[in-house]
Amino acid sequence: MNGKATRWTRQLKLVIDIVYESADPMIAEEVYRLARKKMPNISLGTVYRNLNKLVEEGLVSESSSNGISTFSRHPFPNSTFECSVCHRLSSVPVDLNVLELTRKVRMKVDRYSLQLVGVCRDCDR
Ligand SMILES: [Zn+2]
Repeated sequence: MNGKATRWTRQLKLVIDIVYESADPMIAEEVYRLARKKMPNISLGTVYRNLNKLVEEGLVSESSSNGISTFSRHPFPNSTFECSVCHRLSSVPVDLNVLELTRKVRMKVDRYSLQLVGVCRDCDR
């Protein structure tokens, strides 16, 4: 959240809830389609603006392929795993819902780091 004050408008909350409730990455039009069920007056432009804001804040990740952007709830997708035998570093997906955590502890979690240490597949034989 970069120190900038983000206004948690109803639209922003709706957009983030939709993205976080989806297991798969979504295109903006799909977010818009679902948003309209709860807020019929919301515009596609508002959905885009809020998605971009969430990407800027690091709460939603955006990936694009073939010119189509998709949005997903894995803002902090990777953590580092270090093998204590061969010391190779690899990137591991960590499914931590930071938004939920933020709500639960009522503290704004901006980022986290998690260092995993263990034995990698090659060394564990
Ligand atoms: Zn190893």
